[in-house]
Amino acid sequence: MTNMTYLDPATRPMPVVVGHAPHSILVIEDERDIAELIALHLSDLPAHVTLANDGPGGLQLALQQAWDAIVLDIRLPGLNGLDLCRRVRAQTSHVPILMLTARSGELDRVLGLELGADDYLTKPFSVPELQARVKALLRRSAVTAARTTEAMAQKPTLVEQGTLTVDRVQRRAWLSGVEVVLTPREFDLLWHFVQHPGRVFTRTELLADVWGHGHDGYDHTVNSHINRLRSKLGDERAEAAFIHTVWGVGYRFEVAK
Ligand code: CA
Repeated sequence: MTNMTYLDPATRPMPVVVGHAPHSILVIEDERDIAELIALHLSDLPAHVTLANDGPGGLQLALQQAWDAIVLDIRLPGLNGLDLCRRVRAQTSHVPILMLTARSGELDRVLGLELGADDYLTKPFSVPELQARVKALLRRSAVTAARTTEAMAQKPTLVEQGTLTVDRVQRRAWLSGVEVVLTPREFDLLWHFVQHPGRVFTRTELLADVWGHGHDGYDHTVNSHINRLRSKLGDERAEAAFIHTVWGVGYRFEVAK
């Protein structure tokens, strides 16, 4: 007996909660064998896993309750995972999203479109790898919550750098008073940078500091998040105002004079 619910697209009922588990994970994948395999192994974490097998049903579920993580396939009937991810991000910036891609060409599209997914996994993937990635997303959410509490007690919670204001407690950022909507990972990355202005970080350091130990991430993961963050901070429109590339080394946050 696995701890999961399967949604029939014909009826698309409200999710049925089976038992209690510390995490709630939504898996949106139309290939039933893969979906059930994912659900089976994520329920070991432990987590309560809800399955949706098409795009519209997945989007509806993604928006109707708070999830600890969403695993999202790109190829889905009705609404593809790329558009679904974009629409979820337009409504909620906080839920961690792991995207599944069938081919490296799709991965390129994910990275190129900068949709706001937090991590990516290419099919076929191993069960331990899937579990490790999802655990990392869940752990980061938990660590973030704990850090927020700790920060409220003792550390500065608001940083202002030039026209940029970053609030660690609210996990929000503003540029000249206009809110910059960030994904959880983008916020963590920005907060890390503003804590250490002028310091150069390698991609490996950023993976360890922001993504956390045990994440077998890749340089392109860092690059794609940096690019999205830069785009949101307007670093593409003008001279890089905040995040500077240090060629052959990594990145440095510094407010342009
Ligand atoms: Ca699919």
